[in-house]
Amino acid sequence: MPQKIAAGNWKMNGTRASLSEIQAIAEAAQNIHCTAILCPPAHLLYSAANLPGRLAIGGQNCHHAPSGAFTGDISAAQLADCGASHAIVGHSERRDGYGESDSLVRTKAQAALDSGLTPIICLGESQDQRTAGLAIEVVLAQLTGSLPDDARIIIAYEPIWAIGTGLVPTVAEITEVHDALRAQLHAIFGAAGLDISILYGGSVKPSNAQEIFAIPHVNGALVGGASLKAEDFLPIMRSLAES
Ligand code: PEP
Repeated sequence: MPQKIAAGNWKMNGTRASLSEIQAIAEAAQNIHCTAILCPPAHLLYSAANLPGRLAIGGQNCHHAPSGAFTGDISAAQLADCGASHAIVGHSERRDGYGESDSLVRTKAQAALDSGLTPIICLGESQDQRTAGLAIEVVLAQLTGSLPDDARIIIAYEPIWAIGTGLVPTVAEITEVHDALRAQLHAIFGAAGLDISILYGGSVKPSNAQEIFAIPHVNGALVGGASLKAEDFLPIMRSLAES
């Protein structure tokens, strides 16, 4: 059975003063029956990982090399050294903003695994690709190109046009993509592919979480804006636990 996972991506938001918000999430998470992961900016990782409560901590990116002359980067081993257990790789803001290819995302996912982290591998089509009827084709190609040879991963389907826009695909659109991802993971990994959690991401809010989590093969969410405040993220976690 895939785990139910609510993951929060804080992007380049938050200062040390925000640790109280993370602590509120970690404490409440003890009484909510789903896996909660928060991915704060790198300078908060160590402190966040050492807060009391039940919250896994993840990085938002990692370099594919374990160490070396890569100014400004962070390795998976360094994320693990901070107490992280997960790493987002292939977020569309990295694919689009930094030209990250599927093969680079694959090496980052492998680097995360090599350091004992679970990679959260992000996939998603652009608005133009969806309008052209290419969403499934694009997402499945990204999946095949970005996968390491290991099923200890989490997949996040995040249509680019839904991230931070307030736009959300229809239930039928999410269903179609998640069904296709599940079938492809099953074809590649066999029975282990049935246990991989597939998250939906893109403008998930407390108001739409219940409807999204009722969709088959949606095993949770990757949440941006609504993960910044405990008062928004906790109701999403509760909807997931109840789904
Ligand atoms: C994200 O950045 O991964 C994301 C899904 O953002 P938002 O929830 O704000 O759309």
